[in-house]
Amino acid sequence: MSNAPAVKSPIIYWFRQDLRLHDLPGLSAAVATGRPVLACYILDDQSPADWRPGGASRWWLHHSLSGLAADIEERGGQLMLARGAPATVLAQLAEDTGADLIFCSRQYEPWARQLESELFASLTEQGVTLKRFSGSLLWEPDTIKNLAGLPFKVFTPFWRKCRQLSVALESPPAVGLGKWPETPEPTDQLGDWALLPCDPNWANSWEDRWQPGERGALDKLGQFLRGAVSDYDKGRNFPARNATSGLSPHLHFGEIAPARVFRAAQQAGTANPTVENETEKFLSELGWREFSHHLLFHFPSLPEQAFKADFSAFPWVGSAVHLRAWQQGKTGYPFVDAGMRELWQTGYMHNRVRMVAASFLCKHLLVDWRAGQRWFWDTLVDADLANNSCGWQWVAGSGADAAPYFRIFNPTLQAQRFDQTGEYIRSWLPELAALPDRYLHQPWTAPADVLSSAGVTLGETYPAPVVDHADARASALAAYAEVRSQ
Ligand code: FAD
Repeated sequence: MSNAPAVKSPIIYWFRQDLRLHDLPGLSAAVATGRPVLACYILDDQSPADWRPGGASRWWLHHSLSGLAADIEERGGQLMLARGAPATVLAQLAEDTGADLIFCSRQYEPWARQLESELFASLTEQGVTLKRFSGSLLWEPDTIKNLAGLPFKVFTPFWRKCRQLSVALESPPAVGLGKWPETPEPTDQLGDWALLPCDPNWANSWEDRWQPGERGALDKLGQFLRGAVSDYDKGRNFPARNATSGLSPHLHFGEIAPARVFRAAQQAGTANPTVENETEKFLSELGWREFSHHLLFHFPSLPEQAFKADFSAFPWVGSAVHLRAWQQGKTGYPFVDAGMRELWQTGYMHNRVRMVAASFLCKHLLVDWRAGQRWFWDTLVDADLANNSCGWQWVAGSGADAAPYFRIFNPTLQAQRFDQTGEYIRSWLPELAALPDRYLHQPWTAPADVLSSAGVTLGETYPAPVVDHADARASALAAYAEVRSQ
């Protein structure tokens, strides 16, 4: 009998939207087996062409993968980068390395779920087991049901139910990842994937603003809980205040576990009762993220179709010219335009402004919410199928638990309320900066001499409003009445 230790076959850990090493149940489970763990990431060539990651997401992904690869190397391992159909790539890697187990985290996009079940079947035939773990949500969407055993369609009872459930404890750290043997194809180089923009490089200042990757996510969480959280409940509505966490892209790419964010916020509230209201509000925003994923899981047509069936006949008569003006931040409504410029320049837009800008597109311009959703998909660093689709359907009035259609945000009143002194507008629309506060939110009401001394010429240096608010509101309500009468 030989005394040589049995060679343990490796486990492949397939990174997806869970680009972190801490608090990752699937990775901890792989490491706990004591087998060598080989890490890989496969560039998504499988999702439907319309939903491949947009430009801003690709920028983020590049930097996030670069950080993850470095962190894995620090632990003695190696991140294999491959491109192609996951079924083919994973089957090949398993064969080359003799791995009979592949671990990963679940995803909730309809195509990702389909891929998981097809992969499970094809790998099983090859004698390889695919094990899927939680870790990207607080609770699995299929475990939360109402008293009738059905999915929730309203947030408040959904969240009440969730708050009775416990949140996963921290998973043990993933130490000791392995290196790939020489036999598989050499790993792709990240640069070959051309995820970064060039010519023009519209993201050239983004590195000053964002720190993609696990370290950036942990820093953001720490900063938020030490500072801005104390103003969260009210401050979160004021875009100039910087009172939100900025965690959305990190959560989308799985650079931080939602359970970790939840536990840390809860502890901060317990340790300091003066911020308990604030942390509770923050937890409920994480709850909206859960709710969006719950809806996407149970109603997978959400990104494409109105959740409320009567909205499928809505007369979206908006023009391409108006859509373009909105995309470029040239509607003539400063709060909307500031938001759209913030989005273009940073890959992010504050939530209050997202609601107002999105509402303006659907209700003032009568442009189909799906056109706005696609623009956000391409331009947001936190573009997320569940949150984006739910956000847009909520605003359009067609979603589950949506804002009633007849409640139409007045972009001027919203600006006067949430950006009273115009700090936010001035930071994104420098061409209006010299206007007195009184006219900043509605430059078309300023007398000629005021415009002139502020260096503003409507229609030249800044657009005149593309629609009149009162007329647009009346048209939106008429369009809605048409749908209701059918
Ligand atoms: P915080 O206020 O610090 O909230 C903490 C976390 O809770 C966020 O990071 C996010 O993960 C979650 N969250 C907060 N608000 C919401 C919400 N309304 N719905 C779901 N989750 C929420 N969020 C995205 O992550 N990706 C999107 O593609 C996206 N598209 C949107 C489109 C529209 C039209 C609207 C109105 C909202 C959209 N949101 C989206 C939700 C929200 O605007 C962002 O999550 C939020 O602004 C992110 O900033 P933050 O991380 O500082 O949020």
